[in-house]
Amino acid sequence: MKVVTAKDMQTGPGPENWFTGAVWRDSAPTSASPDVAVNRVLFEPGARTHWHTHPEGQILYIITGTCRAAREGEPPVEVEAGGVVYFAPDEKHWHGATSDTYMVHMAINVATTTDGGTDWMEPVVDEEYAGE
Ligand code: MN
Repeated sequence: MKVVTAKDMQTGPGPENWFTGAVWRDSAPTSASPDVAVNRVLFEPGARTHWHTHPEGQILYIITGTCRAAREGEPPVEVEAGGVVYFAPDEKHWHGATSDTYMVHMAINVATTTDGGTDWMEPVVDEEYAGE
């Protein structure tokens, strides 16, 4: 058994080349779990990830607010707190807050790359975020 206490979580702002808008992450240290990335992520209203894929897929557990998410070629959907979103391996997608609520999710994915199991791509432009 391993325990990572709250004070040992690694907290910091989301990098600008991964996110649009203000995002904060609490990451479990990779030394505790080298094969699985565990992150709690807070998005301000309107904030979202860039387009990206996860080689082994990803699970999001929505904790607070409403998540707005889409996969390539489909309009965004909204998932309220308490819901779970699954992304298949290599499914191109994005996720973030709605425009009028902040949102917190747990993100869990197999850590296959140096970026913790995520291949980052281009920003989600406003029209894509709005589903236009
Ligand atoms: Mn993702």
